Amino acid sequence: MLRSVLIANRGEIAVRIAATCRRLGIRTVAVFSDADAGAMHVAACDEAVRIGPAAAAESYLRGEAIIAAALAAGAEAIHPGYGFLSENAGFAEAVGAAGLVWIGPPSGAIRAMGLKDAAKARMEAAGVPIVPGWHGAEQDARFLAGCAAEIGFPVLIKARAGGGGKGMRLVERAADFAEALESAAREAASSFGDGAVLVEKYVATPRHVEVQVFADAHGNAVHLFERDCSLQRRHQKVIEEAPAPGMTPEMRAEMGAAAVRAAQAVGYVGAGTVEFIADASEGLRPDRFYFMEMNTRLQVEHPVTEAVCGVDLVEWQLRVASGEPLPRAQAALGLDGWAVEARLYAEDAAAGFLPATGRLRRLRLPSSVRVDAGVREGDTVTPHYDPMIAKLIAHAPTREAAFAQLAAALDTVEAAGCVVNAGFLARLLRHGDVAAGRVDTGLIARAGAALADDPAPAPLDWALAAAAALDLGACGDVQSGDVWSARDGWRAWGRALAAAEFDGGAVRLHREGPAWACETPAGPVTATLLAFGDGAWSAAVEGRAQRATAVREGLAVDVFRAGRAHRFRLTDPLAGFVEAASASGDVRAPMPGLVKAVHVAAGDAVAQGDRVATLEAMKMEHALRAPLAGVVARLDVAPGDLVEDGALLATIEAV
Ligand code: ADP
Ligand code: ADP
Ligand code: MG
Repeated sequence: MLRSVLIANRGEIAVRIAATCRRLGIRTVAVFSDADAGAMHVAACDEAVRIGPAAAAESYLRGEAIIAAALAAGAEAIHPGYGFLSENAGFAEAVGAAGLVWIGPPSGAIRAMGLKDAAKARMEAAGVPIVPGWHGAEQDARFLAGCAAEIGFPVLIKARAGGGGKGMRLVERAADFAEALESAAREAASSFGDGAVLVEKYVATPRHVEVQVFADAHGNAVHLFERDCSLQRRHQKVIEEAPAPGMTPEMRAEMGAAAVRAAQAVGYVGAGTVEFIADASEGLRPDRFYFMEMNTRLQVEHPVTEAVCGVDLVEWQLRVASGEPLPRAQAALGLDGWAVEARLYAEDAAAGFLPATGRLRRLRLPSSVRVDAGVREGDTVTPHYDPMIAKLIAHAPTREAAFAQLAAALDTVEAAGCVVNAGFLARLLRHGDVAAGRVDTGLIARAGAALADDPAPAPLDWALAAAAALDLGACGDVQSGDVWSARDGWRAWGRALAAAEFDGGAVRLHREGPAWACETPAGPVTATLLAFGDGAWSAAVEGRAQRATAVREGLAVDVFRAGRAHRFRLTDPLAGFVEAASASGDVRAPMPGLVKAVHVAAGDAVAQGDRVATLEAMKMEHALRAPLAGVVARLDVAPGDLVEDGALLATIEAV
């Protein structure tokens, strides 16, 4: 087994590779750009080497600097992760030439699959079904228009060197072809330095179904079943799941065999993914899937396969690169339950998925699901690299349970300082067609507004902001369920008023039984708000309780609820309790009970929140506290007294 590995990547994939290495006792070397000197992946590795300035072209894409770093650090091997240099055959060769182990397929296999046109030709020859279309050398515009007409519209123009959904144009009618071709070729030339394109039939009701393959250097090759990545926006994956909904055993066997054939045709070794497009207009059918491309690396969405197959694909990569045979034969691989992954991005889904940047002054990720994160609270998402924050992966016995688990986990994401897509992802997972497994690559675009976020805070968000600003229920006793003793102006009778002034309007609250009736700039809401300390709240409206977080820092209050973040700004820090909760100094019994103890004597000076008496009721002890600072002017209670609901026990007089 390898003893040391340099990870030529950053972000979540570098952190994830480092985790497996650590488990296997392999020393890890990170590389970093100036923008990443304090990044999570640097902290995740045993050592780290600076390779250049922030721009990827001057750091993570500098093969010679990375190889030099590996040699200097005494690393035996290089793992490229995904993106960057992972599918660069020249780099793979240079790594080998430097006497280092390349944790990836042979350069010949990378090359064979590198250009989509050549790969299609090769796959066709190997008997793998391909999408009908033109993938030859001829690039004359009129000739290609003729091909498109012959294929039949709609067609897809694709950059042969493309990746990440770039350089692709869907053309619905002949009249639009020339213009689409020109812009696709232009984008391809500027993004990939290669303007050549192919033209394909645009498959109807397209579903992206891909197969994970693995091969070793001893001639063994297996597939680890399929992943469905049909939930895409702009040809980029958003949600991925395994297995694919509606997959039949026949089609799974056909696809798995085709994928293994594809890998073997190019002498593949290591982890790879064969991507197919399926025509799902009549459901998934074994005769309606076509090869699109092969990604000769670990895929972003590999964790869903790890979950359902019970394997660690990075461990497999390390073992295969060390010369070991595949850990399992095909017959020993099976599917266990369902897994689904969501890509949490720093992006504004409402503003056309615009990438966002900024310092994550708060980042709390769920612990109920697997989280592969690339940044931590306090880190900055820069414009230099992919803005992915983390991948969240749920695994459950059924699809329904896995989707529900992931949506619930997304609801608890707390991110501030940078817009994230958690709310969008949760709504997408709960969309009727998604829940029913009716997924195709056009779903997100069609659903449009139904998935769009309302960026304005709801009345409940305002109410939570006010509650946090006013420190309502911030009493430690609340943690033990003792809501009665909260120092929050609570009254079982009458009206206690509180108000908070924010930029954008005031929130006024008064008690209505256990709930707060709130007037907010966004409208009224009556909610039961329970604070549990550390910013955590339970907010119930009309019997529906949900978890929320509201934290005050100086004049700013951040509210996190249902995967969304809102920031409020207090106009006057002293405008806390007005008309207040503390207008009355009366201490009353909130319910009938037995007085267990009295903690003050008449004439004592007390601070707001000091314990006046302890009442035992409903099998619990409740602290009754001074509603304001002052002197105990009246004390009408002694230990052992049985008191009625609302009985006046003491009066504090402000001094
Ligand atoms: P996957 O199927 O694994 O999502 P993609 O082709 O979408 O594969 O790309 C995976 C990752 O690789 C992306 O998230 C991105 O970080 C990186 N990547 C893809 N294409 C490029 C590119 N042209 N230049 C740099 N990075 C890229
Ligand atoms: P990339 O290298 O950018 O990942 P792909 O060839 O894998 O390029 O295509 C990206 C996405 O575009 C696919 O996941 C699929 O949603 C869509 N797509 C590609 N080819 C077709 C096709 N022939 N018909 C319909 N959709 C397609
Ligand atoms: Mg692809």
